[in-house]
Amino acid sequence: MTAYRTVRGRLIIACAVIFWISTLPNLFAQSIPASTDAGELHNLIQPHLPHPLAEDNQPVDTLDVAIALNQNAEPVVFSIPGFHSLGCAKCHEGESLHLKAADRMRRVLARLKAIQPDLTAVPLRQYIIQSWSDALLAPHQLAHATFDTIRISPAAILIDDKAYQEATHLHESLHLTQKFVGPANELEAYGLNIISDPRFLILNFPYFEDVVKTFFMPDFHLVLNDFFSRPVKEKLNVPREVQWFLSPFSAEQLEQLKQSIEKMKPLLSEVSRLNREHPRESAYLSEQAGNPALLLEIVAAHHLPIPASSISTETRRKAFELFELQMNKTDNTRLGYKVNRKKEALLFIQHHLKVTAPITRLALYFQLLKQRFVKQDGKIALEVKEQEEFKAYTLSKIEGIRKMINYKGLSKIEREAAQKLIGRN
Ligand SMILES: [Zn+2]
Repeated sequence: MTAYRTVRGRLIIACAVIFWISTLPNLFAQSIPASTDAGELHNLIQPHLPHPLAEDNQPVDTLDVAIALNQNAEPVVFSIPGFHSLGCAKCHEGESLHLKAADRMRRVLARLKAIQPDLTAVPLRQYIIQSWSDALLAPHQLAHATFDTIRISPAAILIDDKAYQEATHLHESLHLTQKFVGPANELEAYGLNIISDPRFLILNFPYFEDVVKTFFMPDFHLVLNDFFSRPVKEKLNVPREVQWFLSPFSAEQLEQLKQSIEKMKPLLSEVSRLNREHPRESAYLSEQAGNPALLLEIVAAHHLPIPASSISTETRRKAFELFELQMNKTDNTRLGYKVNRKKEALLFIQHHLKVTAPITRLALYFQLLKQRFVKQDGKIALEVKEQEEFKAYTLSKIEGIRKMINYKGLSKIEREAAQKLIGRN
């Protein structure tokens, strides 16, 4: 679930629950029968698998109903394009799907407001159940918050209902409120998901792993190993992470993780604040570092006691130099590389400076973050050194939105909202 991704050369603004399938080591998975729940979900998803439309021609028919989610609100357009032409009408009575979706969104928005009271308005104008795959919703993508619009696949609705307890809807609703694009948006949205269920932290570990390891659970990698070594059934049409989510897992480990998340809550709020107040800087710095966790790591370095390490002043100085060298590189933002600069530096420190204990290397990293981003007044400053690069990066993102506006599959509401987003940036 990266904040944007290029699909057929188009920029996807705020993606949804894209699976980590591709990034998780395949060797973890073995084949044995999955639980009944996964089997049931498989049967439900089976008739709803997304297929591309012939020549990418959008459906000509649609079933739209405008529903106000509360008394004072503007109605939201609930829409099922292709309701008749794509065969949904054979099994479904359309209006009841819309009423159910409206109820779902009422619950989700109330929950979002309870977690983040500062979010006074969520600009939801349209909810599209999209049963095909295209540039806006890839086959493996559950949902996508575009512009004032949630596009969601039927499979995602089923998964949210049967397994995720509406986490995808919550995630996408938060995306609607974000002011720019970029990796920090995903960090913020997953931050919301982990508060509801610690299993989302495991499934999305790259965003949280090093903070959890350094400050709360030094053996967190063992939890990851245990979680992902449980077998999944590859033949089911249920994403692997949903199967992992559903199958039983150590209550003790989950409880331990839950307690860590409880302590992380103030950090997650601060991440949200920074991303709201400095959306472009948050995006740029995270992408420059090739590290979607950067904002959370800066906040943790600021607020939590960094483990002490008995390391010579000379080694520390060299380690800081290596971090600086990596983090000042601009290949990720300028050339579109995807190199995690933190990982690069940690490797150098391990092999060249012979700092063998992983926790010592991480402690050095968090010390560096503190030195670099926390100023004399004790506040975090997300300063971008390369102003020209920063400007070019912002413009390239806006150019991406412009290209997306030209995609024929985009609705009128999305087009208008995209124009507004460009205007604001
Ligand atoms: Zn997302």
